[in-house]
Amino acid sequence: MISVKKKIIVANWKMNPVNIAAAKKLFTGIKEIARNLSKVQTIIAPPAPYLSELTKLYKGHRILFSGQDIFWEEKGSFTGEISGTMLKDLGAACVIIGHSERRARGESNEDIHKKIQAVLQTGLTAILCIGESDRDHKDGTHLAFLTSQLESALGGISKGKLSKVVIAYEPIWAIGKSKDDAMKPEELHETVLFIKKVVTNSFGKSAAFKVPILYGGSVEKDNAGTLLTEGMVDGLLVGHASLSVREFGDILRSAQEVS
Ligand code: PEP
Repeated sequence: MISVKKKIIVANWKMNPVNIAAAKKLFTGIKEIARNLSKVQTIIAPPAPYLSELTKLYKGHRILFSGQDIFWEEKGSFTGEISGTMLKDLGAACVIIGHSERRARGESNEDIHKKIQAVLQTGLTAILCIGESDRDHKDGTHLAFLTSQLESALGGISKGKLSKVVIAYEPIWAIGKSKDDAMKPEELHETVLFIKKVVTNSFGKSAAFKVPILYGGSVEKDNAGTLLTEGMVDGLLVGHASLSVREFGDILRSAQEVS
């Protein structure tokens, strides 16, 4: 169970590192730091084939494991797909859904909605990624875009199930670059308020304000603390910087310091 009272820091390893030996080394390095941080909920999202080996290396609650995607069916003729139950059996507590790299490869809002329902049905936590590809401050089309992503993903979900949803706001224009290209904290704060408003419109304030909102997009050790404090987010989703023990360790320590 994710602790929402802590800062939630998710490591999205994507299709890295290259083999299980390297994955174990990276995980072990991160574990030595994360297990000492009482105010941080660290979540590692490795490639699914690594889960069973990595989960053997840690049994506490300060680190949880996540999948990077699931398919919505439980079983059947769906070559290459993985169900929520399969991930859960391997030790995952959460699943990233709707990452922009998957959306870019054809995943639709409808697919994402079905995946969220399947994640919640399985009792896992969904880390729902949303984010615009560019921003036009004059006409605000990015806000309409975020609204439609949120409404289509979460439409029909019960208020009770919302407690198993984390929203990761990842503006696509800021992903995979360096700290200078990350979103500015004040702009992030405005967007976080906007996301809370959209979720409130569908679920009411008390349920909506409990949904943790993370930021992702070129988080590195030097901007992590400011994004958390001035951006007013509950945590961070970290891509490239999560592949270095030193860099990710510093991000985790920044989260501990600002909590
Ligand atoms: C991501 O792809 O989810 C991400 C946040 O990547 P990066 O940190 O490399 O921008």
